[in-house]
Amino acid sequence: EVKRNGRGASLEYSETLSLVQRRRFDLGRALGTAIENNELFLEYQPIVDSSTGRIHAFEALARWQHPTLGKINPAEFIALAETTDRITALGDLVLEEACREAATWPCSDNAPKVAVNVSVKQLRDETFAMKVLRILAHTKLPPGRLELEVTESLFENDHPAIIKQTISSLRALGVFIAIDDFGTGYSSLSRLQTLPINAVKIDRSFVADLEGNGRAVIESIIMIARRLELDVVAEGVETDTQLETLIGMGVNCLQGYLLGPPSRQTDSYFETERSDWIAGDFGRRSGRSV
Ligand code: C2E
Ligand code: MG
Ligand code: MG
Ligand code: MG
Repeated sequence: EVKRNGRGASLEYSETLSLVQRRRFDLGRALGTAIENNELFLEYQPIVDSSTGRIHAFEALARWQHPTLGKINPAEFIALAETTDRITALGDLVLEEACREAATWPCSDNAPKVAVNVSVKQLRDETFAMKVLRILAHTKLPPGRLELEVTESLFENDHPAIIKQTISSLRALGVFIAIDDFGTGYSSLSRLQTLPINAVKIDRSFVADLEGNGRAVIESIIMIARRLELDVVAEGVETDTQLETLIGMGVNCLQGYLLGPPSRQTDSYFETERSDWIAGDFGRRSGRSV
């Protein structure tokens, strides 16, 4: 809107723009360039299976290091991409790159999945499943190694028929679907059975509040997820106490700084010693033999 104004108008605009608006405007322009020039890159954070200590998946997280503005927080640029309709272009790049990189990971027989965040806007496109199939084919990543994470806002969309069709097509391909940041939106637990999904990721705010009301929320999510045969992943695990409590509650997978931060270095996780260490450490911590 601002961009399309004449010279005089935009001058006037820039004088009245608040600092926040100014930054949004600058970042929005820079993000367009970043996508075109492929300035974005991915970090990977392990999602660990709580019964074996094995890595179930690596979540791909978008990163943007701007030449002059520095490192931009994903929460900021993803939100900006959502409101400026650049999320589809960004999401396509991320998906392609994540599949390409995951296809090169070692131990191909039992390699971790790659979990990619997708916006509901991407799923609302009738051609999305086809696009995913094309990317899987040319990156040679088996469909069973791709998991898509989408927030629960997909239950509250204006295009439920398209969303349902897209999710069903993706499932038919063998791609896994997880609901991200579960519990933060307005959707109720009963919504989980309306779409053929595979897993629920409990938002880290409930993990942080395990001593408080978070515990009851997590218990309810686990109870309904068991009924619906969905995996439960806990996000934002930072302390030993949280880890032990969550394992005790029956969470299937764990993710958080305690297990490992997002990083470019996935190699170290593939070394046998490292995965043994995780498994052994898990056994000790959870008081079970592995
Ligand atoms: P998310 O999908 O829920 O990803 C997890 C976020 O929690 C990541 O933040 C990660 O760095 C952070 N995190 C992981 N473990 C811990 C922990 O133990 N404690 C705390 N406090 N935080 C932890 P990040 O990388 O800043 O990403 C923020 C959000 O941006 C993501 O949340 C996701 O919703 C979105 N995002 C990132 N990349 C993409 C993308 O490629 N496409 C889309 N559509 N969204 C993306
Ligand atoms: Mg996610
Ligand atoms: Mg999440
Ligand atoms: Mg989250």
